Amino acid sequence: NKFEQLGLNPSILKAVEEMGFTDPSEIQEKAIPVLLNEDTDMVALAQTGTGKTAAFGFPLIQKINVSKKHTQALILSPTRELCLQITNEIKNYAKFEKGLTPVAIYGGASITDQARQIERGAQIIVATPGRMQDMINRNLVDISKIEYCVLDEADEMLNMGFFEDIKAILSHTPKEKHTWLFSATMPKEVATIAKKFMRTPIEITV
Ligand code: AMP
Repeated sequence: NKFEQLGLNPSILKAVEEMGFTDPSEIQEKAIPVLLNEDTDMVALAQTGTGKTAAFGFPLIQKINVSKKHTQALILSPTRELCLQITNEIKNYAKFEKGLTPVAIYGGASITDQARQIERGAQIIVATPGRMQDMINRNLVDISKIEYCVLDEADEMLNMGFFEDIKAILSHTPKEKHTWLFSATMPKEVATIAKKFMRTPIEITV
């Protein structure tokens, strides 16, 4: 199994096998070993359908400390649908990783229910920027100790007008975290985010 050569742990490899993935996609081959072995920021140019969710999801799952319950990673994504999709994919990838819980945070649903889920422990939060910012303002979520931040479909998020929300959210995260930015295109605003909030990111294109 070619996934073994990427350095993934047995529980993820078991999930990969169960999902029937035989070969890593190009973005997975390029991103996974780097994200696993180097504590680095990354800018990855990749379209949807390239397997990018696993490209950041596998390394995140492997890096989360499951014995700790606090929020260790934040994934920002543009829409409710994507948010739920990413959360479900991470649940599948982490099926054999006991005690790892991702929680989806998005607008148009009960904020009380989402706050309750976070209280029970959410090592990985997958959020849309608007609702995330709302929950930060209401003190319903603590991202002050995250180690990883993924900006998924960064160009889409900025197209949708989330620039200010993203900046505000990032200002509540520690400087020492690592940021992994995924985008299909690299317009000026995305480059601005990368320049302002990331430290010498490794760049990958597929
Ligand atoms: P994404 O680009 O992350 O939205 O992934 C697109 C679809 O491809 C999802 O349904 C994944 O479950 C699937 N997928 C991701 N990686 C692989 C792989 N290496 N082999 C086969 N399917 C994959």
